[in-house]
Amino acid sequence: MKTDFYRFSIFGGDLRQVYLARLLAGQGHTVTVYGLCRPAAAFPEPFTEADSFAGAAEASAVFICPTPFLRGEYLSAKSPGVSIRPEEFFEAGCGGKTLFGGCIPQRFRERFLQEGGELVDLMQDETVAVRNSLATAEGAVAKAVIHSPRTLRESRCLILGYGRCGSALAALLKGICRETTVCARSPLQRAKASVCADEALDMKNLYHALKYADIVFNTIPSLILNRHMLRHAAPGTLILDLASAPGGVDLFAAEELGVRALSCPGLPGKYAPETSAQILADAVAEHLVHSKRQKAGS
Ligand code: NAP
Repeated sequence: MKTDFYRFSIFGGDLRQVYLARLLAGQGHTVTVYGLCRPAAAFPEPFTEADSFAGAAEASAVFICPTPFLRGEYLSAKSPGVSIRPEEFFEAGCGGKTLFGGCIPQRFRERFLQEGGELVDLMQDETVAVRNSLATAEGAVAKAVIHSPRTLRESRCLILGYGRCGSALAALLKGICRETTVCARSPLQRAKASVCADEALDMKNLYHALKYADIVFNTIPSLILNRHMLRHAAPGTLILDLASAPGGVDLFAAEELGVRALSCPGLPGKYAPETSAQILADAVAEHLVHSKRQKAGS
């Protein structure tokens, strides 16, 4: 099968961007990087490190930006001294170019499209989300192992929500923890959960389930564990909030009530950056092939 080779510019981000650059360069694409969290010279793959954002932007027609796209006003970057304003894309000229990234703010997205660019938010890609959910579940289990004073084998685990992350977590915990309970609002999700969890409960039973849980994994992106609900947590319960900001746990109330609760963002990037990068590389390739076919057909 014939492979198309592209010129990619990869900016900022965490270790996922480093692995992504390595993967794409290893596949024979031309890769220019700027603001990665590791120096390009540390790796054997042939990619070029630009000395400015503008230089990296000019080098390619396809930009791969980090997830999340922004930290505050700047593109997410962990490289010391690198502060890239999103406006710099427009200063570098982005008409006709393609940009990939995750959690891209609407304002940037609109302007990029207006300037004639093509933009793909990888975090809105269902295949990416489903494949990421396993890495998220493994990261959550790693967090539980690190922060719980007991083995999982002795722990009663409670999972809130049974979407992509909740179901991946329930499948992973099956057989390694003492008991798994799922709380979900949808009868269909509870029916599915009952296949692999020991118990699947309606949300109205949450306060009861909390009393018996040693470790709670929240995947519900809504303030479920509020001050009132947290009062039902047993002493010593560990709560891990996987839901994206603002999360589903009142961390301030938890601290006041003496309940151990941790926010756990970005688990795939922290615990499985290489796998996460592969997932992103596959999604980028899929999109470029699809886009080329569409252009050829129009
Ligand atoms: P998902 O597939 O949409 O699942 C969300 C679950 O929450 C569903 O069971 C949904 O039930 C339930 N839910 C939503 N609002 C609810 C409410 N008000 N009351 C009760 N249940 C409610 O999402 P996901 O992919 O599993 O992701 C879950 C969260 O984790 C998101 O915030 C996501 O951004 C985040 N995330 C975090 C990481 C990390 O590294 N920490 C990684 C991936 C994703 P219904 O179907 O009935 O709405």
